[in-house]
Amino acid sequence: MRFNLPVLISLGASLLVSTAVQAKGHPEAEKQVLDLSKQTIALRSVRGPGNMTPQVAEVLKAALLKAGWDAKDIEIVPLDDTAYLIATWKGSDPALGPVVLSAHMDVVEAKPADWERDPFTPIVENGYLFGRGSSDTKFEAALALSSVIELRRQGFKPKRSIVIAYSGDEETTMDTSKVIAQRLKNADIVLNVDGSSGTLAETGKPLYWSWQGGEKTYVDYKVDVTNPGGHSSAPRPENAIVQLSEAMAKIGAYQFKPEVNDITREYWTQAARIEPDAKLAAAMKAFVANPQDDAALAVLRANPATVGKVSTTCVPTMIAGGHAQNALPQSATANINCRIFPGHTRAEIMAELEKVAAMPPAKFSDVTGDDSVEAPASPMRADFVAAARKAVTAAWGPVPIIPTQASGASDSMWYRALGVPSYGASASMSKDSDDFSHGLNERIALLNIAPGVTYYLSLLKDLTAK
Ligand SMILES: [Zn+2]
Repeated sequence: MRFNLPVLISLGASLLVSTAVQAKGHPEAEKQVLDLSKQTIALRSVRGPGNMTPQVAEVLKAALLKAGWDAKDIEIVPLDDTAYLIATWKGSDPALGPVVLSAHMDVVEAKPADWERDPFTPIVENGYLFGRGSSDTKFEAALALSSVIELRRQGFKPKRSIVIAYSGDEETTMDTSKVIAQRLKNADIVLNVDGSSGTLAETGKPLYWSWQGGEKTYVDYKVDVTNPGGHSSAPRPENAIVQLSEAMAKIGAYQFKPEVNDITREYWTQAARIEPDAKLAAAMKAFVANPQDDAALAVLRANPATVGKVSTTCVPTMIAGGHAQNALPQSATANINCRIFPGHTRAEIMAELEKVAAMPPAKFSDVTGDDSVEAPASPMRADFVAAARKAVTAAWGPVPIIPTQASGASDSMWYRALGVPSYGASASMSKDSDDFSHGLNERIALLNIAPGVTYYLSLLKDLTAK
């Protein structure tokens, strides 16, 4: 994940859900998950000098070759200081679009001096695997890949091809992500296994599992006001700082129109059923019944876990201006960061902000760059929803399943922008207290290994069968 997903909802540990189903076990695959996780965590795949992402790809390639993949079906393609991996297991019907497993091999920088344990030395301790990338997302990449190998070991013959497509710069520029999506735009479905999909109670009990079917578009707009300046002893009505401040105050107070799509409608409906805070649960229900319900909106907008799911949001995040204590400012500049609800263009939202600001001297420009793209939400595909439910139930027991829309941005946006349905759907579950992705002492609970293999075997068998 490049940007943190907000915590779905905070759930009390009082919720009673049956404990994880004991998997029958796939000892070879389970051993391989841990081996590959450790080998890849030990490689410092961080953007910049010494980037070892290509070596991560080599480790994964070696595992596939050993498991029977043909060398010509595994590509490691270098790009700048990184590389991406595309490995294909051909299905029996070449006319069908492939099922793509998407993850990334790069990690966010980690300064060893700040960590209790060396970030690039994998350490197993108290039921956890520690190290940079353990939760985001080398463990899950190893889990998905080892499960595909297990599927092959079992003699399974997929009808659709299974393509393992791991990017090499998801945490930074996403250049490989863009190339991969372009190359695999014929895919039937993309399963993005980045990050944890499920939530465990602090007791370790599975609480719910969620899949991500859409994400908001990340955008930055720059707002500039320029004036001729002059001596501060002779003020004029036009003052760049005052004009910019007035515009920012209006934008700060502005609320975009509340919206619901198929994904968020289902999210509010399911989340309301398990949300322990009665007031919040009632607001979720009222909002889905009437998105213009002001009382419900006030509750949802006051909660950091739900505010981003109601509408587009824009917020001033940086400001600079003036050049001397005794001069009229010649310029003032602000940055506005937006997360756009799927279905709107960046230009459309910028025009709306200009209208809200109603300050002609304030010049707006989109400075996002090309590492973000407008992408529609993926449809609620019945075959995916059914296969995911079956796989999660086999792995974790009958837990609630909740679709969600993230605030952006993951590799899925590049596929969705090309019209390929993409679903954030990893096997793993974690406690809120274990969420250290991008942070210090990142870790993943080893109890995820056995159910994880069960999950991927079930999901991939179902999605490649027809
Ligand atoms: Zn990630």
